Amino acid sequence: MKPIYFDLDFGITCIDTRHMRDDFVAAYLIEDNGCVAFVDTGCYLSVPTLLATLDEKNIKREQVDYIILTHIHLDHAGGAGALIKHLPNAKVYVHEYGANHLIDPSKLRAGVIGVYGELFFKQFLGDLIPIAKDKIIIAKDKDEITLGSRVLKFIDTPGHARHHVCIWDEKSRGIFSGDTLGVSYREFDTEQGVLIFPPTTPIQFDPDAWKNTIQQLMTLQPKYAYLTHFNRIEFTQKSAAMLATHIDGFTNIAKQMQGHVSRHKAIKEALLDYLLEIAGQHGVTLDKTQKIKIFKGDLEICAQGLGVWLDTD
Ligand SMILES: [Zn+2]
Repeated sequence: MKPIYFDLDFGITCIDTRHMRDDFVAAYLIEDNGCVAFVDTGCYLSVPTLLATLDEKNIKREQVDYIILTHIHLDHAGGAGALIKHLPNAKVYVHEYGANHLIDPSKLRAGVIGVYGELFFKQFLGDLIPIAKDKIIIAKDKDEITLGSRVLKFIDTPGHARHHVCIWDEKSRGIFSGDTLGVSYREFDTEQGVLIFPPTTPIQFDPDAWKNTIQQLMTLQPKYAYLTHFNRIEFTQKSAAMLATHIDGFTNIAKQMQGHVSRHKAIKEALLDYLLEIAGQHGVTLDKTQKIKIFKGDLEICAQGLGVWLDTD
């Protein structure tokens, strides 16, 4: 299988994990003086693509020191257990709230099957393999690790999920941001730049914490965000403001629909209207059907997360 990947600079490669569709879920490879790390893995079914990328780049599996997980949602971390079986020297870095779910993924599996169903799990996520406890290292806020000649620094980043860390790469002045700096599809790039919106995934969406996290990350004065969804973007104050605005936009929709008889459906419809509106204002020229097709992957999950937030806030 021929992997699809994008060589960025600073030894960073964006790998298309091919989850659900192309240009949707990225994993990253960082190479520095013969040392290698993955940041996120895609799901279980993405592992052959990751290994094929190593082969294409003539990277030996022994060279991979780290699998760094931004958080344990399965489109980011679902492949870690299967991947590490091929990487004899690798350790997994993960937030302390995610570690136990990697050692014993039964709750994670049950939670995902509860939301998406068994069929979806098998077809699109594949499986979940436990990771031995001695392979896991907790990534604490401000911890630094060395990869070749560069230092990678972990930052605790609640908002999208409580088990989320971002990774600051001083060398490229980039943040491996998982879902914390939003979702931005390349199909929506226009002369106005990138369109960013928040994935308000269940069950730990916390808008206030998220906006604080964005502010904290901006104090690093980043040049780039390495997004999982999808690929590297330049991340400016304007990007940060756009993301914060749409976090508020999404929560306002949820609040307006609080008492609606079919609340979930109402939130979903209003979210789609909102996204189509902001895409229009952003100058996206794709036709409506194409836009809906791209947004569709996020709508259900964003509406669910907003529902959980309404019920727990
Ligand atoms: Zn996530």
